[in-house]
Amino acid sequence: MIKVVKFGGSSLADADHFRQVASIIKADPARRYVVPSAPGKRFKDDIKVTDMLYTCYNMVKNQENIDEYYKNIAARYNGIIKELGLDFDISGELEYIKNALQHRSGRDFAASRGEYLNGIILAKYLGYDFIDAENIIFFKDNGTFDEELTNTVMREELKKHERAVIPGFYGVMPNGTIKTFSRGGSDITGSIVARAADADLYENWTDVSGFMMTDPRIVEDPCSISTITYRELRELSYMGAGVLHEDAIFPVRYANIPINIRNTNAPEAEGTMIVASSSDYDAEKIITGIAGKKGFSVITIEKDMMNSEIGFGRKVLEILEDNEISFEHLPSGIDNMSIVVSTASLEDRREKIVNTILRNVRADSVAVEDGLALIAIVGRGMVKAKGTAARVFDSISNAGINIRMIDQGSSEISIIVGIEEHDFEKALNAIYREFVK
Ligand code: ASP
Repeated sequence: MIKVVKFGGSSLADADHFRQVASIIKADPARRYVVPSAPGKRFKDDIKVTDMLYTCYNMVKNQENIDEYYKNIAARYNGIIKELGLDFDISGELEYIKNALQHRSGRDFAASRGEYLNGIILAKYLGYDFIDAENIIFFKDNGTFDEELTNTVMREELKKHERAVIPGFYGVMPNGTIKTFSRGGSDITGSIVARAADADLYENWTDVSGFMMTDPRIVEDPCSISTITYRELRELSYMGAGVLHEDAIFPVRYANIPINIRNTNAPEAEGTMIVASSSDYDAEKIITGIAGKKGFSVITIEKDMMNSEIGFGRKVLEILEDNEISFEHLPSGIDNMSIVVSTASLEDRREKIVNTILRNVRADSVAVEDGLALIAIVGRGMVKAKGTAARVFDSISNAGINIRMIDQGSSEISIIVGIEEHDFEKALNAIYREFVK
């Protein structure tokens, strides 16, 4: 049995958390490969080490002196080492990094050092080998992740180490410079390591006990989710934000390795299992989760005889593509088509887009309306349960809310409704109460 365990920044913010992390790792001999983030916040107004490193980079860029500021970073690591009673001096590494920062090493290099240093310390503390991610995680010239090369090289390297720490968040470009994933990217590293290690489980340790059925800031004390499929999680992508990086799903998904979201501060809680979409995991409830977001706009295009005009949809979508806008949903009728996009993506281009659509497809009318919120009601149990859509719509209309848009994915595991932004909180509560008494 092999488990890859990733610990987020809040799980490694100080020496006490390091002790807790070590006791979790040592409690299960299968926890052989460990992926740490950089030290996160210790208290509400604290600053993450990654953010401090970005600040250093910007200071150097603005020709400011970083000597004083860098002491705060050094103090975080030295504090952890001292409190853990480790007989080990990291000042050489700290000096080297400071020098590199002063000599304008890249922005990604700067950011990645948070994980690098934390990885070295954690490896020493655990007595595990340290494998620098720059030797086993590769990006292509165009900046995208090189999945195949990474998997081949990492696989061979891991075989040489019974137990190892691999810092999260970064890898290397073909020219040898360091590149990071986007923010929160240690989750991705963990997933890549899990795939290369042929792990049985990828445990992602954070500071919450898994996913809640819905947003606890809007619905009071929602139930937690014990098992969710990858597919459902994708449909609920507005919800996972902040707990698990979206891109962390893909490496393990293809390898069929479950992800277990766990809480470092409550290790006894089982957390949420994210599993392949498989009938092995029968749904306990009709609805697995309800998630939503404000800030959408609808572009509505009307044209007589639209449905028989071949290539109409393509021409319209091409206009969005040319403007680098991705769309969320595409509900359409006989002679009209609506495209739901995030309002932010329209920016100053809305007039140009409207005019181009009018011209290129000779539409009768094109209108853009803002102020839409979307709610996704997702559940693998929906396929078997009759009347789910009716219950969703009834609960919304009984709350006196008008539904502006409905979209049921053909996968039959989700229903998406569009409502006015000001009805968002009320609608979320109404739907939740309908399905969870
Ligand atoms: N330390 C990085 C960040 O703050 C990556 C991570 O924590 O996953 O974004």
